[in-house]
Amino acid sequence: LEEHVHQASKMDAIGQLAGGIAHDFNNLLTVILGNLDVLLTQSAPDAPQRELATAAQGATVRAAALTQRLLGFSRRHQLDWRPTSLNALATEVVALLQRTIDPLIRLETALAPDLWPVRADPTQLTQVLMNLCLNARDAITGAGRILVETACVGDAEVRLPHGSSARPGDYVRLRVTDTGAGMTPEVKARIYEPFFTTKEVGKGTGLGLAMVFAIVRQHKGWIDCRSEVGAGTRFDIYLPRLAGAPALPPDAAPATQVPTGK
Ligand code: ADP
Repeated sequence: LEEHVHQASKMDAIGQLAGGIAHDFNNLLTVILGNLDVLLTQSAPDAPQRELATAAQGATVRAAALTQRLLGFSRRHQLDWRPTSLNALATEVVALLQRTIDPLIRLETALAPDLWPVRADPTQLTQVLMNLCLNARDAITGAGRILVETACVGDAEVRLPHGSSARPGDYVRLRVTDTGAGMTPEVKARIYEPFFTTKEVGKGTGLGLAMVFAIVRQHKGWIDCRSEVGAGTRFDIYLPRLAGAPALPPDAAPATQVPTGK
């Protein structure tokens, strides 16, 4: 219980701090980009400094993207709430990732046919699922499998985590399981901390799961992680069912059922 409360208030503090810093940083980056732009337009096409200015411009654009991600933490960010089908979202994300993931890694879905809708910001949830899948990919060396599943979890089955602010009720579960390297308990204890990463410099920012944690909390849900070194990792995201929602139009909720295979 204490751990969860501690993590939550730490995230609040970090969220505020990150929001403030990101905001100021963005203003400064705008000035830098503006000046670089002037430099580039005013220099001769063959000026040797052009290459340096172009490199600086590239780095500044990347820095701007990073602060944008930090801004995602802060509450100032307006969310776009709407009835959302996690099946449609999962289908989209998996189709997108399928093209970029090593063919040795099987990326599969097993989606519940009559999944309840949730009230969510689809862009944020796309981020959540992308982050989980990309982490799963990174955990696999050589061949492996990533499975994305959805399920309805009725009130009676729901086991609220200790210390969370989640309420009893029906939930929709989004599960991502991988056959990757797994985590030691020491690593697992720190994964939601901003800037905690075990990946080499340039590969990981350590912001992915911190963002996932913040987004899931904004959605009044919670996250559960099981992991075993050498066996793999399973992330469960629970989001409250959108009660009294009209049925989603069929095109928004493809009942895609991809066989899970062997
Ligand atoms: P990043 O991916 O940039 O390192 P994250 O916050 O997304 O940042 O993840 C933090 C750390 O958690 C990772 O560096 C990795 O050690 C661990 N991790 C996350 N997901 C998995 C997974 N599916 N399998 C094994 N380790 C994981």
